Formats: sequence, C-alpha cells, structure tokens
Amino acid sequence: MSDSNLVENVLEIKKFPDPVLKKISKSVEVFDSELENFVDDLFRAMRVHDGVGLAAPQVGVSKRIAVVEYEEKSYVLINPKILEQKGIQEGEEGCLSFPGIYANVKRPQWVKIEVQDTKGEKHILEGEGYVARAFLHEMDHLNGKLFVDYLSNLKKNAIKTKIAKGTGGHF
Ligand SMILES: [Zn+2]
Repeated sequence: MSDSNLVENVLEIKKFPDPVLKKISKSVEVFDSELENFVDDLFRAMRVHDGVGLAAPQVGVSKRIAVVEYEEKSYVLINPKILEQKGIQEGEEGCLSFPGIYANVKRPQWVKIEVQDTKGEKHILEGEGYVARAFLHEMDHLNGKLFVDYLSNLKKNAIKTKIAKGTGGHF
C-alpha cells in the first residue's frame, strides 16, 4: 500500500470546539464486525496523525471506544472503567483535537482498568506513567472531558485565543 492510499479513507479528526467532543459517549452493546472495522479505522487514523491514543468522539462517534498505542503495544478500550488508581504524575499532554496545544496535566501515576475487546470479552489492563496518562486522557474523552478542562480559566482563554488565530498544527 502506498502512502497516499494510507492517508485516503482515514477518519477525519474533529477539532475543538466541535460539540461532539463535549458529549458523554454511549456504551457499546453490539460486538460485531462493524465494531472491529471501526477499531481498525481508529488505529489507522491515530497512526497517520502520529497520536499515542484516539477516542471515538474525536472522529465524531459518540461511543465508549478508544485506542492507545505506546512502545509497540496496542490497547483497545471498549466500555473502559477505572478499577484502581495510585500516585500522581504531572507531565505535558497534547491532543489530536487541539493541534499544536500542549499543557501540563496532573494524573494518577498508575491505573488498573477493566475494558472489553471487540468480541465483548472483558480484560484487566494496568498502565503506569505515560500509558496511565494515555488511558486516562482517552477515557476522559468518552465523558466529554478535555485536557484543557484541567487548566485554569486564564490558561484556557489563552488556548482559545491561540486556536482562533490558527497558530496550531503540529500534528
Ligand atoms: Zn485527546
């Protein structure tokens, strides 16, 4: 497959302030080949845009589905739930829906989550450090929560101004 084929048919990433990003996503109840294809499309869009994770609302689909890929490990998060979390970390985060915007966000250092795969089978995943951050960032998307919501209003307004001016575009 050539690069141009790879970029064609890739899901479009919804950018802030698209209202779909603020919606609470619905649980997945049907585990069929359509879901499997959608998860593949999510991975593809994430890789094309150089992301570490991507949630369904970011492509305009209000369902509790997200993918994460870090250090060659791929994670499918369908109907994810937090079981346990520990510690605290602070680090820089970006988001494909906010091109060119980065912000320091505090998150738990470690999480244990329960997810379903595309067949509906339940799995327990543990993530530490960067992976924990990615899981939690994507799970926030499913609840309409965006990483800039962790920032003060002053910083949020600065980001809005930056987006309005269109200075972003790192991805
Ligand atoms: Zn994001």
